[in-house]
Amino acid sequence: MSANETALAERLGRRNLPILCYHRVLAAPPPGGTSNIHVTREVFAAHLRQLRRRGLATITFADLAGERPVPKRPVILSFDDGYRDNYEHLLPLLDQYDARAVIFALGDRNLRSNRWDEGSGMPQAPLMSDAELRACASSGRMEIGCHGLAHRHLRDLDDGALEEELRAGKASLEAVTGRPVISFAYPWGEWSRREREAVARAGYLFGVATDHGTTIAEDRYTLARRIVFPRTSGFGFYKKTSPWYRRYRRVLGRS
Ligand SMILES: [Zn+2]
Repeated sequence: MSANETALAERLGRRNLPILCYHRVLAAPPPGGTSNIHVTREVFAAHLRQLRRRGLATITFADLAGERPVPKRPVILSFDDGYRDNYEHLLPLLDQYDARAVIFALGDRNLRSNRWDEGSGMPQAPLMSDAELRACASSGRMEIGCHGLAHRHLRDLDDGALEEELRAGKASLEAVTGRPVISFAYPWGEWSRREREAVARAGYLFGVATDHGTTIAEDRYTLARRIVFPRTSGFGFYKKTSPWYRRYRRVLGRS
């Protein structure tokens, strides 16, 4: 372990860090009732109020890796895919509630919508333009992480293509935002030892999965996230941001 690695490991320690996974933030639920990846503005505002009431502070991965002290009760709110509604609706709410979030965007900047969901029944939705992504990055409220180049199943890529997906995705987003990209979200939360090693080798400091993952003390390259669904209640949100949630899911046999 290098001196940097040791310092980071000490800094992270046995810290309990709930990481939530959202996608879209909308003024109203999309028609058709098939979207499983949105919350409304009202619901997200209620989440931010609940966190404040309970004394939890929203941070980013850059905060974890940085030198300033991390708040006692941190939580990371992350948003996958880089939807335009994150710029339109999420950013103003973060401003209003003095909160922060991490956006996992795609490095292929020609991708204009969630084409990978075609045929799944999920509605098509626009992704952020370069200018919108840049505005998010420079707001000081959002860290931009990488979600791959084009939302591919990483397990289908050979070693060379996997490395390209990770390195080119990072470089592309760094070119758009002018900031280092240090965090990576596995598309569909799918990872194995091979992908985990490739993410570390490509120069990221953190990798996030979904339900099946690790705590920050176990492995910071395969961190578990708790998915927030349209149906997640206020109490469900409370559970997903509580230190005992992982043990609770294990007792239920869910992870
Ligand atoms: Zn995704």
